[in-house]
Amino acid sequence: MANPKRRHSVSRRDKRRAHWRKVQNPNLAVCPQCKEPKLPHRVCGNCGYYNGIEVIKIKAKKEKGKEKEKETKPTKEGA
Ligand SMILES: [Zn+2]
Repeated sequence: MANPKRRHSVSRRDKRRAHWRKVQNPNLAVCPQCKEPKLPHRVCGNCGYYNGIEVIKIKAKKEKGKEKEKETKPTKEGA
């Protein structure tokens, strides 16, 4: 039976195992409506448009600053 002639080095083994962890850049298209990056062939998550038609109504645009304020823990005055 065919056998490997040489044992693979630790480095070579680890390089092979590291590949699944590699982060690959997703293919992103630019939304023609709002110019935000979106997944191709999918409704834009930012404005809800697809092919020039509003498919989903997005209630309000998320503001990153306000979201962080909500994440802060409420005061424990009631306890
Ligand atoms: Zn959009």
